[in-house]
Amino acid sequence: MKGDARTELAGLAASLRAYLMWQAEAGTVAFPRSTSTSTSTSTPSPDRHVRLPQLALEVAACTKCGLASTRTQTVFARGNPDAQLCFVGEAPGADEDAQGLPFVGRAGQLLDRMISAMGLSPENDVYICNILKCRPPGNRRPEPEEMATCIPYLHEQLALLRPRVIVAMGNTAVAALLDTKIGITRLRGQWKLYRGATLVMPTYHPSYLLRPGPQQLEAKRQAWEDLQLVMKELGLAPPKKQG
Ligand code: URA
Repeated sequence: MKGDARTELAGLAASLRAYLMWQAEAGTVAFPRSTSTSTSTSTPSPDRHVRLPQLALEVAACTKCGLASTRTQTVFARGNPDAQLCFVGEAPGADEDAQGLPFVGRAGQLLDRMISAMGLSPENDVYICNILKCRPPGNRRPEPEEMATCIPYLHEQLALLRPRVIVAMGNTAVAALLDTKIGITRLRGQWKLYRGATLVMPTYHPSYLLRPGPQQLEAKRQAWEDLQLVMKELGLAPPKKQG
């Protein structure tokens, strides 16, 4: 092949790839998914391992909203980018802001116990991230403008990860991922679709489950029911009880 033609072909391939990524991100097309039920990984998308670290650097430099001036550092994600299962929370709290990792405080410890109860490793079998990458001062609820400004980062993260299932934890995650005002109490336990293509299981946020109160026992039972639906979808057997 002549040099010119090769250059033109490479240019066309790059444009097509960029176009398809953009379409997938916009939810216009869905790439064919694996029907495998293996537990931990899907076929890695070609540039997930290249683009996610770049994106994390872009997030670290972000000054698009006022939270940039109050954060200690941004909080991008933890876990395995090849995992089939992605947990999405609301926003970093004080511990996450200090350590630069999501869900490392009390709520995170409960989340890790829930993931382990599913027979999965929080480090190797799941990916964990948030709607907002910066801590709202005093752990207040994210403002709609902050969510709208930050959500493109999550959309790109999810387009690269292409998880089989997303667990949306709490009202903020559900509102942002499903573009709905319906509350978590009504939505939990029902399969929904993110951008018409990826299964979402709405469930309670671990911080809610940690609150003292008479409803929490029932909420914990319901959250476990929700996670069991996720396990069934992923073909995971519940771990055997020890002793
Ligand atoms: N709550 C969240 O929603 N995310 C975290 O990372 C920690 C607590």
